[in-house]
Formats: sequence, structure tokens, C-alpha cells
Amino acid sequence: MFKRILQLLYPEVCFACSKTLLESEDLLCTRCRLELPRPGLFLPKPNWLSLKFDGWMEYQDAHCFFLFSEGGRVQHLMHQIKYKGAQDLGRFLGIWCGAELNKYNWPQPYELILPIPMHQQRTLERGYNQAHCIAEGISLSTHIPILMGGVERIKNSQTLIHQNRQERFHVLEDVFQVADPSIIQGKHVLIVDDTLTTGATMLALGQKIKTAGARQVSFLALAALQ
Ligand SMILES: [Zn+2]
Repeated sequence: MFKRILQLLYPEVCFACSKTLLESEDLLCTRCRLELPRPGLFLPKPNWLSLKFDGWMEYQDAHCFFLFSEGGRVQHLMHQIKYKGAQDLGRFLGIWCGAELNKYNWPQPYELILPIPMHQQRTLERGYNQAHCIAEGISLSTHIPILMGGVERIKNSQTLIHQNRQERFHVLEDVFQVADPSIIQGKHVLIVDDTLTTGATMLALGQKIKTAGARQVSFLALAALQ
């Protein structure tokens, strides 16, 4: 009843398309739940996503849940998670993504989930790390534990928009630090991020943890640019 009154006063809207939600809907409207572009988590290799990683390092899987396009609904969705404090939305999408992972591939080969660490200063400014919210959701669905601490972002990376992938990769080489290698040694680590464009950030972290002793590395982006 109270929720109904609140909804009349402040109608809740869909995080992707901004349409007013029905009482039975939560966070996303039914249409967006059905229509948001999802390419499938396990694509036969090589594919457009694996090509972003192939040849740079040895890894097992590269997944993305949503396809991202300029000005599209997925971009709007990711903007809410990243800049508008929609942490619950991040967790919800992570739970959804994790449930899809369970359908595709069970038992999971991944032993630890590593959300891309955010620089301490940026975490203080934003108040949360959106990759961590998504990872929490995936962990809830899959029961794969999240790696807490031990891997840090020691540099606030500069704007990378005008650099090509090789330059980005070079800039990112010393961005991450494995402070405690013992927690990843011998493990298959699934690196999770909110959005993926070139894949340079994920690769930089992947190489870092591989060098520090991770047995295998896989990648999962909630949304990726094709
Ligand atoms: Zn919608």
C-alpha cells in the first residue's frame, strides 16, 4: 500500500528507457528485460569479443552480458550504475548475469571473482565501486567468492580516449599492484568490469595477476562495445 502511494507521488521509471514502471515491475520494464541486446555469454571463438584479447595474453574465457551502443538503452543503464549511484541496479544485473552463467556452464571453472579495483581517491569521491556491485550480484548467483583486497589500483589512470589500444595498454601497465600474491596463486580468477571498450584495462589487470601467480584468467564485462 505504502509502495503504491509512493509510486503515485514519485512514479518509478525504468533505468534503461525511463518509461514509468508498472507496480509489478522493478528497476527495468518488461520490454527492456526482453529486448536489451544480449549476445550470449559463451560465443564460439574467435569472435568480436575474443579478438580484443587474443594475442595479448593467455586467458580462458571472455564474456559480455549486454551489447553497448552509443546513445542506446544499455549506455543509459550503465550511466546510472556508474555515475548516478544505482548500486542496487548493479547488483540486480550482476545476479541476472550470474544466473545466465549458471545455465551455460556448470560446474564453474572460476574460483575467485575480481572486480576491477578503483583508485582509493575515486572510491572516496563516488562512494562505491560499480564493478564491485556487479561482482556482488554475480557472486550471489554463482556462489563464487569475491576477492577482497590484495589487488589495488595504485594510479588514477589518465584520460585514454585519444590513445590507441597499444598506447592505452602501455599507460595501464603500472596502474595495478598485487599487494598479496598468496590470495590469487594457483587460482582461476574471473575479472569483472562494468563496461568494456578496447579491453586494455582488463588486459593490464589480467597480466598483472597472471604474473603474480594466478593459474588462469577469464574476463566478464556487464556491457561491451562491439
Ligand atoms: Zn524500459
